[in-house]
Amino acid sequence: MLHISLHKIFILAGMLIIGLASLSAQATIVASVKPIGFIAATIADGVTSVSVLLPDGASVHSYALRPSDIKNLKNAELVVWVGPDMEAFMSKAISNVSILHNNIQIDQIPGVQALLLRGVEHAELGSLYRHIGEKKIENSVSTDRQGRHYHGEYNMHLWMSPDIAKKIAIAIHAKLLQQMPISQDKLDANLRYFQSTLFVANDKIHKQLAPFKDKGYLVFHDAYTYFEKHYGLSPTGYFTINPEIQPGAKRLHHIRMKLIEQKGICIFAEPQLRPTVMQAISRGTDVRSGILDPLGASITLSKDSYVQFLVQLSDQYTSCFKGD
Ligand SMILES: [Zn+2]
Repeated sequence: MLHISLHKIFILAGMLIIGLASLSAQATIVASVKPIGFIAATIADGVTSVSVLLPDGASVHSYALRPSDIKNLKNAELVVWVGPDMEAFMSKAISNVSILHNNIQIDQIPGVQALLLRGVEHAELGSLYRHIGEKKIENSVSTDRQGRHYHGEYNMHLWMSPDIAKKIAIAIHAKLLQQMPISQDKLDANLRYFQSTLFVANDKIHKQLAPFKDKGYLVFHDAYTYFEKHYGLSPTGYFTINPEIQPGAKRLHHIRMKLIEQKGICIFAEPQLRPTVMQAISRGTDVRSGILDPLGASITLSKDSYVQFLVQLSDQYTSCFKGD
């Protein structure tokens, strides 16, 4: 009898060890989008794991959670996201009690609201929507989300701001310190590392972009405002449309005239979005085509990934401005 129960105890102990091992293999921090994951990866380096919800190539404006995402969110020790004006897909999941208590909503971090910038002007978008067909926009779920995002008062691409990134880093550090006080030394060192490497990169990017302060250019959508304001760039305008809907000829003509009038030198698409209409805008002009990646799709999570992300953006602007 004794022999059997000991045997059972060994089996149970074995199961417990396997269970704990699989638990620790799970990401404890879940970031909604990659650049937020980049910041978390620096603070959590050597302490805990980070995963990103939005798959590479998916649009943050029209994503819908999969059952596996909801499972990851429920199992997370900490969820970091911007807020309902950006990740509309998160709102329902985040109301789940277990996630509610363990999440950092970036637009609620003290001091962030004072740094928010207004979104694209309604007038500009109003005329755009009339040209591309208002009815179609109202009928589509994804464009409804996009419409709400663009018509929100503020631009919510907050990960593009080095100043807001510092506040995100501090908030993640504070939350992890609460959860894992034993790792204080490592967490403190990681926060200092984030701050010092960002300081160096920020200086480098300021110098790199300074010669291009007065150059006009066009970007695909309004994702870059925080970066552009911070580094003094002056975009001519935004090609803010739903990629699924072709803009009308009148709108295309308007964008093209604006670009020519203001002597724009570049037009930027995004890695997954290179509509041929963008080429049509620059046809017959000297305007060059470039790519800007607002989510750092090609960058892997590491201690240095947020800084790499900002440097990559700066390089992407610069290479088109210089005509490399
Ligand atoms: Zn966006």
